[in-house]
Amino acid sequence: MSKEKLGLNTICAHVGETPDKQFKGAVSPIYLSSSYEFMDVDVKRYPRYFNTPNQEYLSKKIAALEHSEAAMIFGSGMAAISTTLLAFLKSGDHVVVQNDIYGGTRNLMEEHFENYQIDFTFTDGIHVSDFEKAIRENTKMIYIETPSNPLLKIVDIEAVANLAKSRGIISAIDNTFASSVVQNPIDFGIDIVMHSATKYYGGHSDICAGTVASSQEHIDTIWNIAKNLGGSLSDFTVWMLERSMKTLALRVNAQQKNAKKLAKYLNNHNAISKVYYPGLKSHPDHLLAKKQMRGFGAMLSFELHKRIDSQEFLKALKMIKPSMSLAGIESTMLLPAVASHALLTPEDRLAQGITDNLIRFSVGIEDRRDLIKDIEQAIKTVETSKLIEAN
Ligand SMILES: *Cc1c(COP(=O)(O)O)cnc(C)c1O
Repeated sequence: MSKEKLGLNTICAHVGETPDKQFKGAVSPIYLSSSYEFMDVDVKRYPRYFNTPNQEYLSKKIAALEHSEAAMIFGSGMAAISTTLLAFLKSGDHVVVQNDIYGGTRNLMEEHFENYQIDFTFTDGIHVSDFEKAIRENTKMIYIETPSNPLLKIVDIEAVANLAKSRGIISAIDNTFASSVVQNPIDFGIDIVMHSATKYYGGHSDICAGTVASSQEHIDTIWNIAKNLGGSLSDFTVWMLERSMKTLALRVNAQQKNAKKLAKYLNNHNAISKVYYPGLKSHPDHLLAKKQMRGFGAMLSFELHKRIDSQEFLKALKMIKPSMSLAGIESTMLLPAVASHALLTPEDRLAQGITDNLIRFSVGIEDRRDLIKDIEQAIKTVETSKLIEAN
């Protein structure tokens, strides 16, 4: 089966099935062995070597989705990210990092890189010139994340990849927020693509996993340290992830269709003062998003008018869940100021554009009407209770 010629839904449905030669069942069997024969075998298999049958085959689906030669599956997004960073960065090396990346990745760098004498610079902005001016003689990697969290800023993937190539630097991206359905950075020249599979790949808020996709050569380098760091995923969860990924494109396409409509609805609402969504023509990077994304993803953020208390609003929602994570089939909302960005000072948050009334919205697959109804009733509830208080 030539993977290049297959459509996205076919890749999701079929690539990387673990063959059931014995019983010819329709779905992949789960191989739970942690002990395999070592004599007269081509591959010495062991879960922490990332090469059990389920790990090996599902990696083919990840690679097909990201247009890469090879891929690996990890026990979490952070296991994939930390292992990849440590595979390429050594004492004395420097990495240029986009200023607003995922908090866990930022913590890893800020709290631990000094111990390994790995240097890092967070960019001032997200324009390619911001990356260029942060490059030093010892820069080994440029690390990006687009769309960004929570303000959905868009980095020019191709420009950053070209910059890295021209300087002989490895480029890496956290592609979690877009998912492979919406964005394939390798097509624009990026070397390494990581995902928190806890998000869209898993998609049902019941799996913690991570992935890396790249050339075979880079995957070999990552594997070499991964087998010693030990961040592999149990075969049972690998199997759950395969099951989830069969509907990846169906889910994400439904979610981003909803998100586009909801962004427009929120944008026209008098209780909402601002909407951040790359699919809106008013988004400063709308054209760039159009160039490098297929659709605009299913994450958006919006700012409630200051007359509405954001925590009361979240409490008044009946269906949409206030929730830490994102990308499940169910719609969830989060207040960055008290959740993902709570550790920053209020001044630092404001400098980043994160106000107390900013809400991040992970749009699910529910019927749009019902989502709008829930938001409407929540706004009304908060406004009414305020009126009663005032009287
Ligand atoms: C959640 C997330 C991660 C970390 O993934 P885990 O599976 O929680 O380790 C990394 N990057 C982004 C953008 C995320 O949203």
